[in-house]
Amino acid sequence: TVAYFDAAAFAQKSISPLPGAVERMPAFTDYATYRAHGGYALAAALVNGEEDAEAIIKTMEDSGLRGLGGAGFPAGRKWRIVRDQPAPRLMAVNIDEGEPGTFKDRTYLERDPHRFLEGLLVAAQIVGIEQCYIYLRDEYHDCRALLETELARLQADPPCALPRIELRRGAGAYICGEESAMIESIEGKRGEPRMRPPYIAQVGLFGRPTLEHNFETLYWVRDIVEKGAAWFSGFGRHGRKGLRSFSVSGRVKHPGVKLAPAGITVQELIDEYCGGMLDGHSLYAYLPGGASGGILPARMNDIPLDFDTLQPHGCFIGSAAVMVLSQHDRARDAALNVMRFFEHESCGQCTPCRVGTAKAAALMHAPVWDNATLEDLAQVMGDASICGLGQAAPNPIRCIQQYFPEEVA
Ligand code: SF4
Repeated sequence: TVAYFDAAAFAQKSISPLPGAVERMPAFTDYATYRAHGGYALAAALVNGEEDAEAIIKTMEDSGLRGLGGAGFPAGRKWRIVRDQPAPRLMAVNIDEGEPGTFKDRTYLERDPHRFLEGLLVAAQIVGIEQCYIYLRDEYHDCRALLETELARLQADPPCALPRIELRRGAGAYICGEESAMIESIEGKRGEPRMRPPYIAQVGLFGRPTLEHNFETLYWVRDIVEKGAAWFSGFGRHGRKGLRSFSVSGRVKHPGVKLAPAGITVQELIDEYCGGMLDGHSLYAYLPGGASGGILPARMNDIPLDFDTLQPHGCFIGSAAVMVLSQHDRARDAALNVMRFFEHESCGQCTPCRVGTAKAAALMHAPVWDNATLEDLAQVMGDASICGLGQAAPNPIRCIQQYFPEEVA
């Protein structure tokens, strides 16, 4: 039921893919195949205005779907908030996927792009969006070519009234995954996060109310609306609800994107979805949420991985990028690597983050940590940074101090 990448269509585009791009593309469902299997029937059936909008927003709310870029804001509630704002309303879709260790959006995009585009169309119709901007990570050359080709096919034979859809290229800045920095970037400015309030649902792109979503959040819309809220919320473990796409990397036998119940523990994820640890390796530590989500020791391998469950331990799930370390790794090396990344990617707008990440990285390099000075820095960064990058930057410091003190003593 899948078609292969259309090399002829690709060749007509002005984009130059990297050598071998076509061969590298996995099989994917193209526009004709997607429609032949019931695709876009949902988007085309939305003609009852208020009635459809209320029913679908209710389904989204009941499903418990939350923003899967990392922030975890309930998707249905966001639709309702933006819909209540005055028109014209705009949409910004985040496919920047810059969180280290995260590759779920690319994986789904290069296999089933229209499932995402149909979610975008449904959201646009329900919320009353006039124009959509898709912000795509520039390193995803092959995805850009694919998305342009498939968007052109959709626009040539639209199943319903389409909003204007523009594809924008990111430029490699991690901070442009932060929603307000992405909006600045789409507007042609430096990608620097905005102070809030006002929230972008009220004052977003070009000063208009804006619905902002991560790729994967929209990817699930069709299935949730067609199969019902209970279908999505029926998954889950350890008291949590829904599905999560974990990008698993590190010392496991089978790394990759694992679609698993929300609330699964890291041990269950490794054992049931990743074929266990690599031979000769045992679990020593793990990063549950990419660079920003902190580091936990192996003895804490039974915490449900989900929004809200990791906060009491000083961590969070973010975009569900799980990195697995073994006894051949040191947690402090991972923490230093993460802090250097933050230092490099800080937009520089505010001093606690710009200077704090650089000072922290220098201090974390020492064989024995100056814990008092690091704690002082962590406090200032957490309290006084404008956005989540600076606010989350202390997480690796505190995790090492709390869970791996012997590594830095
Ligand atoms: Fe920029 Fe860092 Fe301040 Fe965020 S916290 S606005 S990334 S300097």
